[in-house]
Amino acid sequence: MSETRHNWTKEEILDIYNQPLMELLYQAASVHREYHDPNTVQVSTLLSIKTGGCPEDCGYCPQAARYHTDIQGNDLMTVPHVKAQALRAKAAGSSRVCMGAAWRNVKDGPEFDQVLEMVRTINKLDMEVCCTLGMVTENQAQRLAEAGLYAYNHNLDTSEEYYKEVISTRGYEDRLETIGNVRKTNVTVCSGGIIGMGEKVEDRAGMLVALSTLNPQPESVPINALVAVEGTPMEEQEPVEIWDMIRMVATARIVMPQTQVRLSAGRTQMSREGQAMCFFAGANSIFAGDKLLTTPNPDVNEDMAMFEKLGLIPQKPFVKKAQPESVEAEFSKFDQTGENPRWTRPGHTIERNEVAKQKAKESKAV
Ligand code: SF4
Repeated sequence: MSETRHNWTKEEILDIYNQPLMELLYQAASVHREYHDPNTVQVSTLLSIKTGGCPEDCGYCPQAARYHTDIQGNDLMTVPHVKAQALRAKAAGSSRVCMGAAWRNVKDGPEFDQVLEMVRTINKLDMEVCCTLGMVTENQAQRLAEAGLYAYNHNLDTSEEYYKEVISTRGYEDRLETIGNVRKTNVTVCSGGIIGMGEKVEDRAGMLVALSTLNPQPESVPINALVAVEGTPMEEQEPVEIWDMIRMVATARIVMPQTQVRLSAGRTQMSREGQAMCFFAGANSIFAGDKLLTTPNPDVNEDMAMFEKLGLIPQKPFVKKAQPESVEAEFSKFDQTGENPRWTRPGHTIERNEVAKQKAKESKAV
């Protein structure tokens, strides 16, 4: 078995990423087979339970209130609505539901209690439940764990160096702190990033260093290709080449052999052949459903047709880890109010974010 190392350096990762493609593919596919069934792919459904109006300034995100995009915002979904969506996802072959809320951080109160109820409800449907709700304190992570959460997603997005060009409203260390808070529970960690935001290959390697040197490494790592949305500061970014995506997936697979590497946003821009190469390179998870929070994604039937062509089988739930038990709200052993989050705000602005904000203001004024 190849060992799982936690001391990868940027130079080593760059050497892996930049080697001739056929060599990279061969190495990645070999590592993949040591730890995973190459014909099984985990299918997750991403559900936006609260859309838009986010106070953060992530330069790629159409849900940031400060940019002017066509996003239709909505308040927090009801529990029965979420249950109905989860049942639909299950019937279509998903083993996991990932619920996303456009929040800076979780706030204790009725909305968080509602999310906890959603977690209990989906766990009882025998599906893996994941949440992506922004920053969480240790107490909130514990309450999510108690409700039966299987995974928590909090992406690093890019390298620590390039991060400052993408987001100014919170720091890299805040992200790592949330991941650390989740790690103190039995909830698995899902954390990855986005390529195609104007970063260098060194930044891609830097992000993989940050992820692979976590101990334990994240159980799941989504690799997204930027979907450049009009109205965001990144609207003019060129689409990511499939070769970059394949290299990124293969490198992630080699440095994090046990992790589920998830082919995430940007699949609508990829051919089936391109996606097949990503699966060969070690991707073993996808997001299903025609929307990824707010950006387009292939239709479920298209994905199932692709699976059939490639002989891929959707992974059953709880193959990697047992189903968590759900504790009902009245039996919770944690405080209803967690400690107050103390998140840093780096004192800098990002020029292209300011330009997008100004453009949004002007178009609203017309
Ligand atoms: S990525 Fe998340 S935190 Fe950032 S602006 Fe979008 S919804 Fe808000």
